[in-house]
Amino acid sequence: MCASAYDNERTCPYADPPMLKVDLHAHTSEDPIDRIPYDARTLIERAAILGYSALALTLHDRQLPLTELTPFARERGVALVPGIERTIRGKHVLLLNFPQETEQVSNFDELARLRHRSNGLVVAPHPFYPHPTALGRFMERHASLFDAVEVNAFYTRRLNFNRRAVRWAREHGKPLVGNGDVHRLSQLGRTFSLIDAEPQADAICAAIRQGRVSVHTEPLRASEAARLFGSLVVADLSGIFDRQHADGKPRGATTEPTAAA
Ligand SMILES: [Zn+2]
Ligand SMILES: [Zn+2]
Repeated sequence: MCASAYDNERTCPYADPPMLKVDLHAHTSEDPIDRIPYDARTLIERAAILGYSALALTLHDRQLPLTELTPFARERGVALVPGIERTIRGKHVLLLNFPQETEQVSNFDELARLRHRSNGLVVAPHPFYPHPTALGRFMERHASLFDAVEVNAFYTRRLNFNRRAVRWAREHGKPLVGNGDVHRLSQLGRTFSLIDAEPQADAICAAIRQGRVSVHTEPLRASEAARLFGSLVVADLSGIFDRQHADGKPRGATTEPTAAA
């Protein structure tokens, strides 16, 4: 139950005090780009059933206001961490616990300044997946910007693009976080972080910065990965088709590294 390919030192959710089960990368139907079949409240309810203590809703380039969602989540024992998956120079960056102005950040220098004057946490999501939105060589160029590196749930035992991210994190002394990059409710519960913190956004981010986090992760079976990949590709194509009809001109393809598996 506590086994993991990427455990650091503490892994067990049954520790005393218990570690928080947390996912810091999840999309919902409020996402302006991806087509997601469930809304934020449905995701929160599902996460509560699965024993999550905290979640970050990380829509593409939109930081979802949490005023109404926070009490809804709290009633279910789930703390919400403000979050957004920003696209900067075409690359995805997870920004957690930042002020709303992260929606306006347009380059890495601005992000560095904002990080300096806020309590935000910068996470590199799916950094070495074979997708144009993966940070790749930007990891090295902006290494000091990243507080943590993601182990992404979308992998199988044989095809795992997280390996390079794990190596990079070790070489640079950065903590790993386990994220679902959730686009379907069925993705919840396979890969997540266990965090030694109070269930509150500032405390969770501080604990990650200090390395009080471990990754629980289980690979997808090849059949599961294929089914998920198919579902995401169909949704992508439908979204592109709809947008073309909405504004009469082609737009880019989706934004997640679904080609990874
Ligand atoms: Zn994402
Ligand atoms: Zn992404």
